[in-house]
Amino acid sequence: MTDLTPTPDRPGLHVSKPAPDEPATGSAVCHCGASATATGDEQVRLLVAGWEANHGPVHGSAAKG
Ligand SMILES: [Zn+2]
Repeated sequence: MTDLTPTPDRPGLHVSKPAPDEPATGSAVCHCGASATATGDEQVRLLVAGWEANHGPVHGSAAKG
């Protein structure tokens, strides 16, 4: 069994939607120490948007990490 949930050792963003009629769930852990979870399609969408804007790949490309 593979657990894709991000951890401080393996930072990242993970989104799961078990079924079309069930709400999506998302979890994110950044190497900067930030972490967040969300439940519900809209909440997960906002989590991903905020994450991509402020964490994750941004740290690697921006001048300031
Ligand atoms: Zn971060």
